[in-house]
Amino acid sequence: MAHSSGGGSHGGGTHSGSHSYSHSSRSSSGSSHGGVSFDHVRISRRRFPGAHEYVYYDRRGDYHYIYAECTPDKPDLAITIILSILILVIGLGLAWFMMDIGLFVPRPISTSSYESGIYLESSLDIGDESAALDAMQDMLETTGVSPAVKVVDDAVWSANYTDLETFAYSEYYRMFDDEYHWLVVISYPDETADDGFVDWQWEGIIGDDCESVISSETEDKFTLIMQKYLLRSEQTSLGDFLASAYDEFDAGVLATQYDVTFLAISAVFALVAFMLVVLVIRKYTREKTCYKATKVPAGAAMQKCSYCDRPYVVGTILVCPGCGAPVSINESGK
Ligand SMILES: [Zn+2]
Repeated sequence: MAHSSGGGSHGGGTHSGSHSYSHSSRSSSGSSHGGVSFDHVRISRRRFPGAHEYVYYDRRGDYHYIYAECTPDKPDLAITIILSILILVIGLGLAWFMMDIGLFVPRPISTSSYESGIYLESSLDIGDESAALDAMQDMLETTGVSPAVKVVDDAVWSANYTDLETFAYSEYYRMFDDEYHWLVVISYPDETADDGFVDWQWEGIIGDDCESVISSETEDKFTLIMQKYLLRSEQTSLGDFLASAYDEFDAGVLATQYDVTFLAISAVFALVAFMLVVLVIRKYTREKTCYKATKVPAGAAMQKCSYCDRPYVVGTILVCPGCGAPVSINESGK
């Protein structure tokens, strides 16, 4: 069913259309707990209360201290990899989903798929219509949506309809039997008020199948543009102002359709996903290091290898990490 794309009046500003925001479906991402938790074993390169001291020797044989609350289980590389891939798939998937909504790429409707054409009808004198027809033709060619404008006198509808929107809605289906038109109905009062105020009003009705090329944000922009030019116009020069409105819409709005909010959300999802992966990998490497490390016995002393002079912690190794020579295991080293 078609819906209101927005409208306005001379005195009352504009209102948005009645479109439902079908795009903004909420998605909830599950927590990353399960399988591997981040607070199972606290491991740090700095000493902290309750920590045991561990030492490990790197490839060159240099020693490093590491601190942990207890000896961690052997970290599981497979789980780390699966978790990282899962985070990336979900995070980047959500980011892609949000970007897809944020970047609205218009897909023009095929004008041969329905009875397309431009339509401008006025029961009142609105001046030269040719420029408006040209601008509406441009919109039809760009989007495949058929623009229609109907200018009426309040008397045409006020007796049978409660408001202009209801009349415009009914006119849409009286005039068209598809959902590819965008009808604007502009209505002027029968008489001008004593102070010269012309209390016109207008309504836009857009077919639901226009959704693939006209986003709800774009409908709102059209409403603002149309209202701006109607405010400047006199009834007798309406043709020129309609031309300006459609021209501005064609050039300024249809060319760039994107939603900054969704693009920002997309970037946040991607960033969070990468940060989580970094955390998962860092946790794995830390646990692996600590798992391979040896607990430092209470009161252990430093000693130097009697062959290569490399320092080590007494009681943590049997052979020198540098030259591989057996080390003395008693405190004195002699
Ligand atoms: Zn040595």
